[in-house]
Amino acid sequence: MVFRLHEGAPELVREVLLERGWEEFRGREQKAGDWNLYWRGSAFRKSDHANLLPWQRLNHHPKTVGITRKDCLARNLRRMKGTFGSALYDFSPTAFILPNDYTRFLAEYAKPQRARVGSPPCYWICKPVDLSRGRGIFIFEDIRELVYNSPIIVQRYISDPMLISGYKFDLRIYACVQSFHPLTIYMYQEGLVRFATEKYSLSTLGNIYAHLTNTSINKCGPFYSVDKERVGPGCKWTMSKFRHFLHNQGVNELPLWQKINNIVTLTLLTIAPMAPSSPNCVELLGFDILIDSKFKPWLLEVNYSPALTLDCPVDARVKKELIGDLIDLMDYRPIDGLRERVHQRQRNKRPCCLKARLQTRSAQAPCPTVSGVLSVPELTDCDYAETETPVEGEVSSETPELHLGSWKGTPATGADPSRLPDIHSRRRRLLELPRDGTRTRDQERTPPPRVGNFILTFPFNEATLKASRNQLDVKTAVQEVQKLMGQLGSLGASQSEMERRQRRRVEGSGNETIFETFFWGPKELLLLNERFLME
Ligand code: ADP
Repeated sequence: MVFRLHEGAPELVREVLLERGWEEFRGREQKAGDWNLYWRGSAFRKSDHANLLPWQRLNHHPKTVGITRKDCLARNLRRMKGTFGSALYDFSPTAFILPNDYTRFLAEYAKPQRARVGSPPCYWICKPVDLSRGRGIFIFEDIRELVYNSPIIVQRYISDPMLISGYKFDLRIYACVQSFHPLTIYMYQEGLVRFATEKYSLSTLGNIYAHLTNTSINKCGPFYSVDKERVGPGCKWTMSKFRHFLHNQGVNELPLWQKINNIVTLTLLTIAPMAPSSPNCVELLGFDILIDSKFKPWLLEVNYSPALTLDCPVDARVKKELIGDLIDLMDYRPIDGLRERVHQRQRNKRPCCLKARLQTRSAQAPCPTVSGVLSVPELTDCDYAETETPVEGEVSSETPELHLGSWKGTPATGADPSRLPDIHSRRRRLLELPRDGTRTRDQERTPPPRVGNFILTFPFNEATLKASRNQLDVKTAVQEVQKLMGQLGSLGASQSEMERRQRRRVEGSGNETIFETFFWGPKELLLLNERFLME
């Protein structure tokens, strides 16, 4: 397998892939298009998506900016609030996009002032819309302090965060959109807890080391290396350590994880219908969640290309496995020999272009996808043969480097043909699709409930599975999340009771459907849809 890293892509990705036996794409020395995974820190060009070959994967979907840019996220969440009600979409602090929303902000700002003396002060946080890592952020109480010279969002500041030994923290939750069509979301069991490195106080609003939890800021703070009460040195915990902490505090953490789970789903539902179909792409997103003193989780922002640098041992523990599991989630098994096989057969055969053939065929019959994987329509030996010699003028002018016809000579990787994995019959069957677009049972398969530490969180029951098929039915999906939350509210069972029920079921009849094994949250195999089973 061959990976291609764009300049500035994380070193960790290279390290993990090399350890797994992948080879790195060698630019000019290697045939264009002769790679399986292309990883970029920034977005791909339209043509990169349009010219993907069946064995290739990209690490970004197009158009996720709708949730990864602060102003777009605020706008989209506001729209969803308008459609589905603010009770459901109440997980993000009220935000205003300035300068456009200035009058609206003014009205909101004036409310607590009008509510007269005695009402608690209201704080606001100002963030440049297109910056990250805490750059340009400040907190204010008095509007006269609000000075800006670029587009910003002003958001209600959650001034009563949950603290650990007086330190503020937030959670970095990793989620992967394996596909938008059908919508398929996985959440990662492990994650990071990111601490501020000075004690929280509302009397020091200007102290970024007390109010912002960004690692990029806190690692430069004077107390970063100091062994801080309970938090320890540095500014990070693993999510497991945090869960352990909650457990020791006697907290029933299930509702918290379930709420975070819903936040991720509801946020992704804001852009899912508009996201273009982009088979063979995955998107790893970082959701920043702040928990307040009442144990309510708030969405602060969604990070495109969440940081994969290793600043400390905690990073290494979490992120290395994360990338490994992400590669597994991309599931190269059905196509792992295809690239090399095409290469192998490119000698001596009739000139043609595989991509052109695939495009012609998909024009004849839609090329359905299996969980976001670009399928190979009826690839036969003849098709492989047809990739072998280029026809003058057939090369796509948009991205000639992806044109198989331009390949010449021997494969640059895995050059020993005896090493080439064969596409054996079972795999072939999975790749083959009937021309009329109907799917075999294999192709209709539901996504695996768990891949490493990635847990499938959407679809999460039969109704959402159905809603995610064909045209995404957002209304039904939202209603199912709403039901889940309602049931969660009325859920009286304690964690130990749920664990007991789970054990009973695991030992039980084995009649459970795939959904009965879903749970994202604590490492123990508890169930996301526990309440369905309790009915
Ligand atoms: P950036 O992209 O620059 O990291 P964030 O929105 O993540 O911007 O904000 C940076 C940090 O500021 C967060 O990690 C959090 O500690 C703090 N923060 C952001 N928004 C709020 C808020 N509404 N209430 C409380 N703290 C916040």
